[in-house]
Amino acid sequence: LRSELGRHQVLLPDDGLERYERSVLGDATGRAAFVARPTSTAEVRAVVRWAYRHRVRLVPQSANSGLVHGGIPDGSGTMGVLSLELCKERLEVDRLGRTLTASAGYDLDWLNDHLRGDGLMLPVDVGSSPGVGGMVATNTGGTKVIGYGDVRRLTLGLEVVLADEDATVIDMLGGLRKNNTGLDLKQLFVATGGTYGVVTAATFELVPRPKQVATAWVVVKDDDAAFGLLQLLEADAGEFLTSFESMSGAVLELRRRHNPDLRLPFPAGSLPDLAILVELSSATPPDLGGLSMEELLVGVLDRGAARGHVVDAFLGRPEEMWALRHGIDEPAKEGVAFWVDVSLPRANIAVFRTRLFALAGTRHRDWTVLDLGHYGDGGLHVGLLYPFSRGRPPDPEEAEAFRLGVYELVAEHGGTFSAEHGIGPYNERYYRRFKDPAVQRLSGELKQLFDPRGILGVVNLGP
Ligand SMILES: Cc1cc2nc3c(=O)[nH]c(=O)nc-3n(C[C@H](O)[C@H](O)[C@H](O)COP(=O)(O)OP(=O)(O)OC[C@H]3O[C@@H](n4cnc5c(N)ncnc54)[C@H](O)[C@@H]3O)c2cc1C
Repeated sequence: LRSELGRHQVLLPDDGLERYERSVLGDATGRAAFVARPTSTAEVRAVVRWAYRHRVRLVPQSANSGLVHGGIPDGSGTMGVLSLELCKERLEVDRLGRTLTASAGYDLDWLNDHLRGDGLMLPVDVGSSPGVGGMVATNTGGTKVIGYGDVRRLTLGLEVVLADEDATVIDMLGGLRKNNTGLDLKQLFVATGGTYGVVTAATFELVPRPKQVATAWVVVKDDDAAFGLLQLLEADAGEFLTSFESMSGAVLELRRRHNPDLRLPFPAGSLPDLAILVELSSATPPDLGGLSMEELLVGVLDRGAARGHVVDAFLGRPEEMWALRHGIDEPAKEGVAFWVDVSLPRANIAVFRTRLFALAGTRHRDWTVLDLGHYGDGGLHVGLLYPFSRGRPPDPEEAEAFRLGVYELVAEHGGTFSAEHGIGPYNERYYRRFKDPAVQRLSGELKQLFDPRGILGVVNLGP
């Protein structure tokens, strides 16, 4: 492989492979036989052909910011990491088409800096900077899904290398917004964690950067009030609504305790049980036609207060408002936290949260439930925190029982156990349990078609 790619593009254990082997949160580590770092689609094909010939398993990796361990090798020491980090041969901005075509190795933050000058952006807002390949393979969501959709909705085209004998390239790149010529094959490579093929490039739809944004923290009495407000916002300002994020009192309390300098918008000494971050954005400048996001937001919040949905609301500069929501790392300072990332129909979130707290109250009394999330799109991050102050380590079986209990509740209410991060080894056993067996069977048959020797990825989507 070194003779095909060049010596510095194939790293061996002596070169130090830790950063490719360890998950971003440090909660999982694998062992790689080597790391291959192709710079082009032709080189990706060379790696895949070589691996096919020698029956060597590969795990594709982009920025390695995934949270379900799908981008790191298993512990066998026999897998290779196929890192796309140097794969940057294509970068085309089509201003007229409002699209971007970029190789798999470019990362989100770099791309958005690059697009700034054209007044455009890829509207994916997350606390990490994933690569193009990783965003497609995990269908990245984030805080703006309610306004702009997830990566699946933003993906107009893909280039993929299959793990067959010839390492076939499927070129589905292009900026078509409509294409009704049968199967939309690219969708099979979105959110399937790199098990069907290696994404080497993608074409994304871009949006104009907003020229005015209004942001507010809103205190609500309960979930029903929050969803009353959401309905009002969608009815009166729907096309401008770009974020509707939730944070529970327990998370706010943690943030306050560990960040004395963090400006909380709420009156001194008071923290709500549930707060919602609302954001309206528009590409129309306020001096063009007199459209003001701030006035619009204040008007809706006033009407929300009159109807009993809003207890209190605080408008402020977006950076200040978001500072409270972004960069939450306090749970690890107080204990061991176990997180799940679920999604539910919006109509079922209120009853789900009530039952979640009841479940924790009866079965996990020593633990604190933390929840926050992308409320408006039905996404919730639920954590169970076991405090260091208990003086003994958490019981892993209890943590596992909690995860299963939450996933069962989610399934009962029509939701899914993985909203954003994918399956990965972290969720594989729940995939077996909760995913429709017929879909698992078909997934296995497709795997056979695209990757007949089963050399790609660490997760088996088949039965
Ligand atoms: C602080 C923090 C906040 C986060 N917030 C969010 C959030 O709000 N919403 C959200 O959705 N995610 C969030 N994430 C998760 C993470 O950033 C995403 O899962 C990300 O999309 C993964 O991209 P990556 O480039 O890092 O992929 P990697 O971690 O490298 O890989 C992830 C998966 O994709 C596969 N893969 C990678 N590259 C390719 C390729 N070229 N071809 C085929 N398969 C490939 C891997 O095999 C693996 O299965 C967060 C992560 C962190 C650390």
